[in-house]
Amino acid sequence: MNAGEGSCLCGAIRFRFGLPPRWVAHCHCTLCRRAQGAGFVTWIGTDGDRFELLGGGDCLRSYRSSPGATRSFCSCCGSPLFFESTRWPGEVHITLASVDPDIAATLQPEGHVHWAHRAPWIGDIHDGLPRHAESGGASS
Ligand SMILES: [Zn+2]
Ligand SMILES: [Zn+2]
Repeated sequence: MNAGEGSCLCGAIRFRFGLPPRWVAHCHCTLCRRAQGAGFVTWIGTDGDRFELLGGGDCLRSYRSSPGATRSFCSCCGSPLFFESTRWPGEVHITLASVDPDIAATLQPEGHVHWAHRAPWIGDIHDGLPRHAESGGASS
């Protein structure tokens, strides 16, 4: 089974997930933007039964970010890591930025979701990818 790994910034939390992921997308929703402190967030949707925490579970903290949805981060360094929601059962969404760079380089985003909610200050994006006004499958 092919797998990729990743970690938080301080390295306490390491994780493994199955490759290929179900999808890769840029999310422009207001919740992601605020949760990550970024213009938008690139997520990969992975199979929950192929996701495994390798270490640092004692540093992992989670909170309810919207009804049925949970966001998890490293309490030691603050890195946002995971998203799970009853809207996408069986999936764990992982911030692509926390995936090890050699693997992340092979995972190309397929589109933008929640494009209608994008921040006015991110400027123009001319990547030619599909733009979904609302959810296209990524976190919200
Ligand atoms: Zn950390
Ligand atoms: Zn989002």
